[in-house]
Amino acid sequence: MKDETMRMLRGSVSDRVLAAMGRVPRELFVPRGIRGSAYEDRPLPIGEGQTISAPHMVAIMCDVLDIGEGMRVLDVGTGSGYHAAVMAELVGPEGHVYSIERITQLAVFAKENLTAAGVKNVTVLEGDGSRGLPEYAPYDRINVAATAPKIPEPLKEQLKVGGKLVIPVGSCYQELVLVERMKEGYELEHHGGVVFVPLLGDYGFEM
Ligand code: SAM
Repeated sequence: MKDETMRMLRGSVSDRVLAAMGRVPRELFVPRGIRGSAYEDRPLPIGEGQTISAPHMVAIMCDVLDIGEGMRVLDVGTGSGYHAAVMAELVGPEGHVYSIERITQLAVFAKENLTAAGVKNVTVLEGDGSRGLPEYAPYDRINVAATAPKIPEPLKEQLKVGGKLVIPVGSCYQELVLVERMKEGYELEHHGGVVFVPLLGDYGFEM
């Protein structure tokens, strides 16, 4: 991450998240032709009309999720695999990140990037992540990097009690929402306006 981005985030995002991001080489997660721009604090194109999220957004989402060592995390919208790699650092070798992407070419791109970066505790799968990934549920944390019309019920149901889900919700105006599963029901916290590509699928926007 660039020094100016670090300075902007220091104080509002935990040092643990910033340190994890410092250990993941973002240039390995963007197409070769734009590696010179890898550390700019903005989304960058990764092909198939999709983007790798801006570093500050990855930092904020990881911070809001409060990802601990050893956790089992579901990541919806793998894209380049960068966000999954940062979460893999946060869960450490005892934890695991399951990351699901609907576009085959991006799932392949992400697997190559994760291998090049030496990340071992991320499994990339192809499919409609708006349905979650029941095979490996329940999850301690769920990260969704695409905006949904409303919070998908399967994702809420695949959280452990005490588990947390972060997701952008809305179309014209999108808001980052944190959902925590309680013993009974769910609590919601709103974390301000954001801009994401749509979550397309059964519990997302229509394709
Ligand atoms: N986290 C990514 C990264 O680190 O590069 C960036 C994610 S990009 C903003 C959003 C991704 O969500 C796109 O790759 C898009 O194809 C994917 N996506 C959209 N709908 C999806 C769905 N239903 N299931 C899985 N992936 C989906």
